[in-house]
Formats: sequence, structure tokens, C-alpha cells
Amino acid sequence: MTNLPAMRRRRMAKILATLGPASAKPATIRALFEAGADAFRLNFSHGRQEDHARVIGAIRALERRVDRPIGILADLQGPKLRVGAFVGGKVTLAAGARFKLDTSEAPGDATRASLRHPEVYAALAPGLEVLLDDGRIRLRVEKCTRNTAETTVITGGELSDRKGMNLPGAVLPIAALTEKDRSDLQFALDHGADWIALSFVQRPDDVAEARRLIQGRAAIISKIEKPAAIDRLQEIMELSDALMVARGDLGVELPPEDVPGLQKQIVRLARRAGRPVVIATQMLESMITAPAPTRAEASDVATATYDGADALMLSAETAAGANPVAAVAMMDRIIAKAESDTLYRRIMDFDHADPEATAADAITAAARQVAQTVRAKAIVTYTTSGSTALRAARERPNVPILALITNAATARRLSLAWGVHGVVTRDARNFGDMVERACRIAFQEGFAQEGDRVVITAGVPFGTPGATNTLRIAWVGAEAAGEGAGG
Ligand code: PEP
Repeated sequence: MTNLPAMRRRRMAKILATLGPASAKPATIRALFEAGADAFRLNFSHGRQEDHARVIGAIRALERRVDRPIGILADLQGPKLRVGAFVGGKVTLAAGARFKLDTSEAPGDATRASLRHPEVYAALAPGLEVLLDDGRIRLRVEKCTRNTAETTVITGGELSDRKGMNLPGAVLPIAALTEKDRSDLQFALDHGADWIALSFVQRPDDVAEARRLIQGRAAIISKIEKPAAIDRLQEIMELSDALMVARGDLGVELPPEDVPGLQKQIVRLARRAGRPVVIATQMLESMITAPAPTRAEASDVATATYDGADALMLSAETAAGANPVAAVAMMDRIIAKAESDTLYRRIMDFDHADPEATAADAITAAARQVAQTVRAKAIVTYTTSGSTALRAARERPNVPILALITNAATARRLSLAWGVHGVVTRDARNFGDMVERACRIAFQEGFAQEGDRVVITAGVPFGTPGATNTLRIAWVGAEAAGEGAGG
């Protein structure tokens, strides 16, 4: 077994690493974890279910080996629109030319493309923009019927088989979960995924529908990548367990200059609500091929850290890049450096949200202040559902949150939460046990030494979810340290 204290992270923001052909081997997954990955994303836009099953098996084996909860996020493809194939595999569209979209199965050419999504035509209207291949090609709709659309090419270029399509100005009458998504969702739940990411969420109902299907077996993260989702962000957030700023598609559907401000707004909204928020896409993009990031990428990672995002995601950098482990190690260093900057605390405190009028918020807000006053090394939180740990994270305290959890699934979900180090353990039996166990685990996990203080929060009577009502300052004594050292 790996030395436990070495598994303690020296940073608060988490790293979510996407696995793919460059990183699916057990040895690479382990190296990514050791370099700093806290949770792994499986992208169901790629790969077969049997490949994902192997990867999930490897993550769970690693989890047993290192004795740390590791989150698995299954990212469903969602209703991604694509044009069909072309004669010869590709065509070149000239600006100003006419180009038709229709439901015919026949391969396309320089005058037309197959678009076999009949529901899309209902949402098209003259004047609307159609973006192809991540916005590289732009069309303007001139005329449409139930199964055709006449367009003019605004920005031309080469268009190859099955490229993606975005319709920024339209709310599409399509279900959030395709048949493929439903099959992948069932597969992911059967294989114990902790988080389900919903792509192209447009409306709160999309999340509600997924919630009905998931029935609490995994937490839901809504990817914010459509202007329609921005319009109803508050409602979507309230139905979701977390949000992801999916900057890839968001930056296609909206002008690039809109993305940074939206990122800040989404992070702020999620932080206020105490929901984890993940920043995704192109964070260290150049490391797909290069051994080091650009200065701008380093700054982007640091900015997301200063904003107080819960987790930062690597996509192709770890899934398909030449340097997956180096990308995680680099992200780890940039985050740690930003968090140790004296300005970091000031920025974090400036954006601090007031506690809500609940016992859990009163206790976690007090724990943050007490930890600062007595210079405690950690806040130790007994949590059954994970909710108190999330409320403690919402406080963004200046010490880590050691969450003592009875349930492995909850501990894995918390792997995306800012500053939370989850440990699976029995609930406290009584007051003495609460203090003794908290101190012993804080020592064992490398958070406190003999003579250090920790701040403990718990719910009395013990074992009752949602009952956090107790705060205690404790010294880590020789007993805890001695027992800890002895295992
Ligand atoms: C994105 O668009 O930024 C994103 C995370 O989604 P995907 O990688 O699935 O396209």
C-alpha cells in the first residue's frame, strides 16, 4: 500500500483528468493520480462501453491500493448535432455560395449536406446562424421547410464527414438524453460512476429528466455550454449537484470574449449556492504536444484557482496528449503556487458568501473563524450525506476540510469539492470517540502533528444526517499520534 500521508494533497482546488487512449492503462492512471489527479472523467463521446468498463475497473483497483476515494465522472455525449458524410470524405465551401441541408441519406457535396435531425428544421428560421466544425464554417439560413434549409455560406472552408453543428440562437426541441446517452447512463450507473455529466443542457427539465432516471445513484453535473442554459442558469443549478463551465462548446456558441466573464459569473453563482463548479477545456491545451504550457495557459489555470473554482479539468491533454502525467503535474504546481500567493486569501475572502440561516451554516462558518483564530491545521467534519462538507467548502476556509464519511460513494463524490479530503470511517459512537477519531485520522492522514489543534464539527445525536450542531476544538495528543504512527 502507498504511504498514506503522501496521498494528502497540498492544494485546495481539485484536478479532474480525462482518460483516453493516451492514459487508459492502469500504470498511467496510477501515475496521473500520484501526479495530482483527484477524479477521472470518462468521455462517452469516444470509446466503447467495454473500454470504459476496463478503465473503471483499473480506477477502483487503484483506489483499493492507495486507500483513497477517487471520483469517476461519466460524461454523456448528449444531443450533439452532426452533418452526414460527403462524396470523397470532404468538400470546400466558398463564401457567398448557396448550401442546402436536407434529410436525405445520400452523401453530400459542395451544394448540400445530409442533416438527419428532423427536429432541427422546426427550430430553424431565416436569419439564424448555423455553425459547423466548431464554428470554423458559418452559414446563414435563408429559407426552410420541414426537412430542408437553404443557406448562404458566410465563412467558407473545408468541411469533412460528420462534423459537429451548433445552433447558438435556437432552443432545440430535442431531448437532453439521446438513446445512446440512455444506454451509456445505464452502463455508467451499473458500473458505479459517481458523477454523471449532462452535455448540451438547454433547460431545467433536461436536468429533472436525468434526475428521474438516475434516482440518486450518482450526482449530476450540468455542463453549461449553450446560451439557452445561461438564460436559465439559476434554475438549472438548483436542480444540479454541480456545474461545469464547458468552455469548448460555450466558446463556439458565443463569441470568445463572452466566455471569461461568464466563467466568473458561473463560478460565483455556484460558490454562493455551495455547489461544486468545474472549469473545463483548453486549460493546458499546448501540452497535448509540448512538454510545457504557454504563459497564457498557466495564467488561465491560476485565474480559475483565484476565482475559487472547485476543480479544474484536463481534456485532450490527458486523454490523447503526448504528456498526460506532465500535464497533471504542471496543473498541480500552478494551482499550489496560486493558492500560496498572499493575494489568494484576500481574493477568496472578498468573494466570501454569507452563511444561510441553518445550523449547518452557523457551525461551518464558526469553524472557519475558529480555525483561523486558534491556527488549527484542519477542520474535521463528520458528514453522512456529504452536505456539511460542501457547506464547509463553501466557506473556503484557510485550512483543509477533513471529511469523515461513513459511505464510500459520498467520499468519492466529494473528490470534486474544494479543499475536501474524504476519509471513509465509522460514525462517532459518542463525544469521546468523536474527538479521538478526528485527532487520530488528522494525524494519520498527514494534516496534524502532535500538539496541533483541529476544529471538529459533528451532528449530535451521532449518525443523523443533516444534524450538524456541534463544534469542538481539540489538541492532537500523544495518544492520537502514537496510535496513528502505529496504524
Ligand atoms: C466542452 O465543450 O468544453 C466540454 C467539456 O465538452 P466536450 O469535451 O464533451 O465537448
